[in-house]
Amino acid sequence: KTNSGKLVSRVFYSDVERIRMVREKEITDKMERALENHEFVVYLQPKYELEHDTIAGAEALVRWDDPEKGMIPPNEFIPVLERNGYIVELDLYVFEAVCGMLRHWLDKGQKPVPISVNLSRVHLKDSAFLMRFREVWEKYDIPADLLEIELTETLVFENMETLIHIIDEIHKIGFTCSLDDFGSGYSSLNMLKDVPVDVLKLDRAFFLGDMGERGKRVIEGVIDISRRLQMGTVAEGVENIPQVEFLRQARCNMVQGFVFSKPVPMTEFEKLAFGRPAGEDWEGEP
Ligand code: C2E
Ligand code: MG
Ligand code: MG
Ligand code: MG
Repeated sequence: KTNSGKLVSRVFYSDVERIRMVREKEITDKMERALENHEFVVYLQPKYELEHDTIAGAEALVRWDDPEKGMIPPNEFIPVLERNGYIVELDLYVFEAVCGMLRHWLDKGQKPVPISVNLSRVHLKDSAFLMRFREVWEKYDIPADLLEIELTETLVFENMETLIHIIDEIHKIGFTCSLDDFGSGYSSLNMLKDVPVDVLKLDRAFFLGDMGERGKRVIEGVIDISRRLQMGTVAEGVENIPQVEFLRQARCNMVQGFVFSKPVPMTEFEKLAFGRPAGEDWEGEP
């Protein structure tokens, strides 16, 4: 009895495993070409500032426009790229695309909004990668306060000293630094005292379904802590108006969620943020 049970689960497991490995190899094989052919597209999701009811920023979120498979969401390929190392190139590619967008707006005389990019935990083993970001940023000549780096909480425990060093280096350049997915991992609160970020991004998990009375008190508390530490607060994954109104009275700074907009292509974002495209001659990512 137990034997056949084990057998079934082993067969099942190896099937899943096999499909995963085939898919993983497929992605790895295509990666070089995908980067060269500019198959990665950078979408922007607006961040709404509640105090002024305006779009006051955006997050850059990458998609892979595979010629055969169409638009692939990041959760399907980023974990693979984190294993095969291509994530370093991809994050730099996204950063350069964002610098290109900001430069485009500046050249058109359009007042830009700050844009944040995500940084994989893979980078955070040492701060050397920042030199490459810095070179790109210098090449595009963008005011540093228009750029924000999002670090994910889950990486934090592995090497606190390196992390703090990286945040210091980011601040030396002048970029803003935010902590992504806050509240989704372990010991977030204790960690806050050591990690000198500028912005806290409340994880989507806080806003799944009905927040509940206890949930609301927790959110209020976190926003309060954030304010006491002189940090800004962005609520992620907000999907309905009652949540927006709750966040407004809780004095959350910004809301990023489907309630206002999904991540959209750059030209769509311009219509939302500036009321019109900032220029007809946008050529796409560099
Ligand atoms: P993230 O950085 O936490 O980004 C927020 C994710 O939440 C995005 O998913 C966004 O589309 C989604 N989201 C925002 N508002 C809502 C909402 O109201 N409802 C729902 N259901 N979802 C919402 P996306 O674009 O699929 O990205 C997933 C994750 O992939 C990101 O999570 C980030 O960790 C990673 N990622 C995306 N782009 C990059 C990149 O260029 N580099 C790296 N290293 N990671 C990236
Ligand atoms: Mg993020
Ligand atoms: Mg997040
Ligand atoms: Mg995330």
